[in-house]
Amino acid sequence: MRLSATVLLLSAAAAFAQQQPYDLLLKGGHVIDPRNGINAVRDVAISKQRIAAVAANIPASQARKVVNVAGLYVTPSLIDLHAHVFQGTEGKGLAGGNSSIHPDSFALKNGVTTLVDAGSSGRRNFAVFKKDVIDKSRSRVLALLNIGGMGMTGGADEQNVADRDAEAAAALAKAERKTIVGFKVAHCRGADWTPVERGVQAGTLASIPVMIDFGEFRPERPFQDLVLKKLRPGDIYTHCFYPPVPMLDDKGVLMPYLRDARKRGIIFDVGHGGAAFEFRQAVPAVKQGFPPDPISTDVHSGSINAGMKDQLNVMSKFLNMGMTVEDIILRSTWNPAKIIKRERQIGHLSVGRLPTSLSSASSAASTPSSTPTAPAWTARRNLSAT
Ligand SMILES: [Zn+2]
Repeated sequence: MRLSATVLLLSAAAAFAQQQPYDLLLKGGHVIDPRNGINAVRDVAISKQRIAAVAANIPASQARKVVNVAGLYVTPSLIDLHAHVFQGTEGKGLAGGNSSIHPDSFALKNGVTTLVDAGSSGRRNFAVFKKDVIDKSRSRVLALLNIGGMGMTGGADEQNVADRDAEAAAALAKAERKTIVGFKVAHCRGADWTPVERGVQAGTLASIPVMIDFGEFRPERPFQDLVLKKLRPGDIYTHCFYPPVPMLDDKGVLMPYLRDARKRGIIFDVGHGGAAFEFRQAVPAVKQGFPPDPISTDVHSGSINAGMKDQLNVMSKFLNMGMTVEDIILRSTWNPAKIIKRERQIGHLSVGRLPTSLSSASSAASTPSSTPTAPAWTARRNLSAT
């Protein structure tokens, strides 16, 4: 009798588990999943920390925990393609110094679970970055390895052309494929193309993209040549709304070479940062059909306390320029996932993938979010994470 009672109890428990296959059910939210073409009220079920089902009216009885998210957007977790998170005490500037910020201190609360560090480390200090930050963070941190050996120290090391070794950088990227998703060339001061060429060479050797921060804009190396000739399809120009970028002609019309570059497959990234975004560039560009491919922050200790603030604030700027919520989610989820070739793992809510972000869009007027030099601009809709 005792044995059969135990069997009965076990089978009752098994039946109950079958009736409740989901750990968590997000009920009644507005799901926006551009990769899967969903823009509607749907329920999202999560089991064993993975997406288990996305459907209309999943019964509440099938989940152990149910959260009513009506009135909120439910999206794939956000991806920030341009961040600086190599925080430390031994290095300098963004390269293991205090200009970088620890990812868990700001990303998750903004719905960002994947950050791509944009060149803070180079091949000589990547191991420290990996040990101290990447391996210990709850956030997923990927890296664009700086083509300069010491990364972004902000000093003479960063300008040392002799230390931009494409073959050594490519060898490290091949050995660290799980983490290194591309290369970064940044803050170029010289008149020649050597840093860009070394970055592209490394990218070709390792079959991954290169992101360019052009540094000084100099007539000896025109920006048009960078995006029309030097970069390969899939390579990224970041800071696309930075004032020195030749974007508009005298009449305020978008310059045609930009569309030609996009047709070639060049990626134009926001990389807002502290001084690399101006509405006077972005508003006419968006209006004339030239939105950014990914929306990213260039977060560091300066920009987080200035006009950039966070991923949702940058997305909200584009929302207020007239882009749709679906469009800004696309450019903060699926687009960056494709750019870094992580389509299988992140950027969408397909069954088996990792969970979601919850955000709400407030329609109340709020504080001005302009950069100090831009025309007055008051946000009417702001996203916030829940
Ligand atoms: Zn940056």
